[in-house]
Amino acid sequence: MNIYVLLKKTFDTEEKITVTNGQIEEDGAEFIINPYDEYAVEEAIKQRDEHGGEVTVVTVGDGDSEKQLRTALAMGADKAVLINTEDDLEEGDQFTTAKILEAYFDEKDVDLILAGNVAIDEASGQVGPRLAERLGIPFVTTITSLKIDGETVNIDKDVEGDVEKVETSLPLLVTCQQGLNDPRYPSLPGIMKAKKKPLEELEIDDLDLDEDELETKTKTIDIYLPPEKEAGRVLEGELDDQVKELVSLLKTEAKVL
Ligand SMILES: Cc1cc2nc3c(=O)[nH]c(=O)nc-3n(C[C@H](O)[C@H](O)[C@H](O)COP(=O)(O)OP(=O)(O)OC[C@H]3O[C@@H](n4cnc5c(N)ncnc54)[C@H](O)[C@@H]3O)c2cc1C
Repeated sequence: MNIYVLLKKTFDTEEKITVTNGQIEEDGAEFIINPYDEYAVEEAIKQRDEHGGEVTVVTVGDGDSEKQLRTALAMGADKAVLINTEDDLEEGDQFTTAKILEAYFDEKDVDLILAGNVAIDEASGQVGPRLAERLGIPFVTTITSLKIDGETVNIDKDVEGDVEKVETSLPLLVTCQQGLNDPRYPSLPGIMKAKKKPLEELEIDDLDLDEDELETKTKTIDIYLPPEKEAGRVLEGELDDQVKELVSLLKTEAKVL
């Protein structure tokens, strides 16, 4: 099977993020594989081990994205592709990314594409479905189980905590949700092997794309951190008085009663 994973490099939102003049400061920020994409890499490896074939991890990014691709190779993917836009495009959005990926997949023999359910930074959840639509293949989002039997695919899909059972067929794109699997950590031998695995680098020229065709459809107007949480308040005194004060505060300050 020809299995592909769409992988995005994201800020580590567990680390401190600094915003200056409406832009996230990249200096000193930690970058990681988008956590949902780790489920995609893990599932791709499992499906390959069960059905044979090859796993290729693809990212639209910059030179620094190589680090995340090497991590996916160390987990067990076979090949990586970096579509490096840093010299050609100043900005990109979901339209740009899906269009670039469409050009990459043009004339590729694809059985299965796995993406993350959502990227934890821009969080639109659009790239996978947009790409499937452009490629004219079915897609199922937020999957928590994937069983492939020949051309037939049975999927459990998370629907707000409930499960929807879907039957579909290859070729197919799925987006991966927590609960699908437990992504493995790269082993030391895996890290050593990853250094020698193929990592192809492409630019938009190699995909016969023009910068004009890739102009973003959306503009980010502002980026800002959420307001700092105010410290909690501990009520004191007799219990009856505390209850009265609490009810009064819920009415007058919190305005929830
Ligand atoms: C020229 C250019 C500049 C960009 N600059 C920035 C930037 O400064 N900051 C920034 O955060 N992003 C940047 N991007 C990335 C782009 O904004 C995002 O890829 C796109 O908007 C995805 O949006 P999202 O986060 O809502 O993804 P979602 O649709 O929420 O992502 C869902 C899934 O789609 C796949 N996916 C998403 N993005 C990519 C990708 N790039 N490559 C491969 N698979 C992907 C992953 O599997 C991901 O889990 C740039 C892209 C281009 C082409």
